[in-house]
Amino acid sequence: MRTAEVIRCALCKKRVRSHEPDLILEDLAGGKPRYYHERCGTAAAVKASETPGAYILTKRYVDASRN
Ligand SMILES: [Zn+2]
Repeated sequence: MRTAEVIRCALCKKRVRSHEPDLILEDLAGGKPRYYHERCGTAAAVKASETPGAYILTKRYVDASRN
């Protein structure tokens, strides 16, 4: 089985690991979604606010262990 597609942060170009929380910037125009580290998310939020209605910013939390 092949490894899942590597997700890279659109800001710093480093890998976003699956166990890290990340931000997903979805392009409502049908483009590819962009992923950001939580720490790089400010850039994503700025981009989303620059063009209201064009993007949906979703925060994904890691839910591996609930304690
Ligand atoms: Zn990053």
